[in-house]
Amino acid sequence: MKSEEKMDLVEKTAREWMVKRGVKLEDIADLVYFLQEKYHPDLTMEECLDNVDRVLTKREVQNAVLTGIQFDVLAEKGQLEEPLQNIIETDESLYGVDEILAFSIVNIYGSIGFTNYGYIDKLKPGILQYLNDKSSGKCHTFLDDIVGAIAAAASSRLAHRARDVE
Ligand code: MG
Repeated sequence: MKSEEKMDLVEKTAREWMVKRGVKLEDIADLVYFLQEKYHPDLTMEECLDNVDRVLTKREVQNAVLTGIQFDVLAEKGQLEEPLQNIIETDESLYGVDEILAFSIVNIYGSIGFTNYGYIDKLKPGILQYLNDKSSGKCHTFLDDIVGAIAAAASSRLAHRARDVE
């Protein structure tokens, strides 16, 4: 894993904000394991974690994380303007911009990522269940899709055994 001194402000902040919002890299690695264990019987958690970490080195991913979390936080504080405040706060199902932002992450590693994303978004295992718990008083309208997308992207990366992909 990259040492902190080598990260720039955007990467460092994106990683910090995820932790602040209750998502550890290990939680995303669990999702990758969930998605890939049947295809790679020798899969280790370390490999899953490494692929998640690599996905997070991408600027497109960092940008999506910062943007999504910013909207979640502002919605949680009631600081967006209407009608957007209500749409994001209630995670209105027809909104869809959260998913579009997440697709910018899935996209990076090709079409196999979309299958993984759809699958995990439907089942909502692990951390995704926590993020979708509407009774928590937290707003994770964007972050749940982003986390699912990072897991899907890391899975694709792993599936391609993409040693040639950075
Ligand atoms: Mg959402």
